[in-house]
Amino acid sequence: MNKIIITGVTGQDGSLMADFLLNNSDSIIIAGVRRLSVKNHENIKHLINNPRFKLINLDIADSQNIDLVIQKEKPDYFINFAANSFVGVSWDMPEQVMQANTMAVLYQLEAIRKHAPNCRYYNAGSSEEFGDVVEVPQKEIHPLRPRSPYGASKCAARHLVKVYRESYGLYAVQGWLFNHEGVRRGEEFVTRKITKNVARIYNEYKNENFKPLELGNMDSMRDWSDAEDFVEGVWMMLNQEKYNSVLKCRLNNHKSMVTAPIPQEQETAWLSKKIQEYVLSSNETHKIREFVEEAFNFAGFAKDQCKWEGKGLEEKYIHEDKVLVKINPEFYRPAEVDILYGDSSRARNELGWKPKTNFLSLVEKMVRNDLKKD
Ligand code: GDP
Repeated sequence: MNKIIITGVTGQDGSLMADFLLNNSDSIIIAGVRRLSVKNHENIKHLINNPRFKLINLDIADSQNIDLVIQKEKPDYFINFAANSFVGVSWDMPEQVMQANTMAVLYQLEAIRKHAPNCRYYNAGSSEEFGDVVEVPQKEIHPLRPRSPYGASKCAARHLVKVYRESYGLYAVQGWLFNHEGVRRGEEFVTRKITKNVARIYNEYKNENFKPLELGNMDSMRDWSDAEDFVEGVWMMLNQEKYNSVLKCRLNNHKSMVTAPIPQEQETAWLSKKIQEYVLSSNETHKIREFVEEAFNFAGFAKDQCKWEGKGLEEKYIHEDKVLVKINPEFYRPAEVDILYGDSSRARNELGWKPKTNFLSLVEKMVRNDLKKD
């Protein structure tokens, strides 16, 4: 029975990871949460009475706290989904972003190195590390060219993960996860902001004075997937001797060529030299405006009865002479990543990972969920 620490468990990815592991393994989940005066446990409230789900106080910004927790628990896996994950806000608080997304990773790696060197470590990486891309689509070999403090913090963390893997033989990986969304997505991200507002506008439409949805850059392009598909990919990256076909082959070769098996105490170090970090993506890209059109379409504002009018900051999305969407320059970013378009063929071929939900089903799922709630 594995002991797995998950950080960021109140967020979208952490809570989905806990659900996935509780449903697909007999692991004990140790869920690290930051003590807050107001609880934000909406995404994990269904797990609170599960005997395999244990909440502990954990603050990723506190190196001593991390050290103590890892020393005490000696986990088999440590999955770090805690982060300041909103690109837009990272220009306003770059220092906090570096603390939460980079220094925290260093504290975790140090504590694992000292107290639990066989613990397998995953840190959440991002397509934002690719930044102003030089190649479309982007795969694992794309250079790191971040365009935001958030992107820079994830690149720095990636280098630390690599250094600790290579210097100390830790099983430590950081995948590149392209945008991943769902019904637990935070409302500051563009997809959820759109679906929440589509539901609000659906309910307020008869009221002459309803407020349109206000967005920034609608021409940037994103590769959106369902976060539920990604947590499975993360688990595959953490267990490559089971899923990675190339590694399985090398293990078999090792067994056939050498009579003695790899001693258990050397297994992690042996694996650390062979494991890979993978891109997870839908392998499609769509403009923000396409998400807008499809989301309103699912709520009954048919695409062929709506139109875009005006240019630049004056652009509007209109249905029966009513403005559904308008531009607010406040939501433009100081520097934009114009296109994210992943190529996850390596994860698909080597790990056998395959997403179940496509772009349209994802939009539909999010709109239906918000229509139900609003
Ligand atoms: P990101 O790719 O991690 O930054 O995810 P977001 O969902 O925050 O943003 C995706 C894209 O939507 C970016 O190119 C934003 O510039 C664009 N965008 C346009 N309007 C908005 C908005 O009102 N809020 C957010 N969050 N993004 C917006």
